[in-house]
Amino acid sequence: MSAEPSIFSRIISGEIPATILAETDRIVAFPDIAPKAPVHILVVPKTERYRDVVELAAGDPALLAEMVDVAHQLADTHADGDFRLVFNTGEGAGQTIFHVHAHVLAGDLKEESLAGS
Ligand code: AMP
Repeated sequence: MSAEPSIFSRIISGEIPATILAETDRIVAFPDIAPKAPVHILVVPKTERYRDVVELAAGDPALLAEMVDVAHQLADTHADGDFRLVFNTGEGAGQTIFHVHAHVLAGDLKEESLAGS
């Protein structure tokens, strides 16, 4: 963990504004500032102890499961319930913020395919 709070910790503390779409004791969710899908929401643990999903799965699998549950609820509320859940893991995969977070992508994604899949 770096000495400086992550951008997501600064959103969670209220220092940087964001529209909170869901909140539990341990998680917040807000829209991605640069949406890549009709619905693009970030689900973020309040702790920045875990840099990525690999660390989170090893350190607190129950928190990871709670993130999936929040993502499902958001997809139900903001789309038709179907969603893609993306954890960019590592710089080479496009991760830019090393405070674990899930991208919930929803809306009409049928025409969009994952690169290489
Ligand atoms: P990643 O590239 O997987 O680390 O994802 C970081 C995401 O955070 C990107 O999709 C950014 O668009 C998003 N982001 C950065 N700053 C903000 C912000 N202030 N509010 C909402 N989303 C943000």
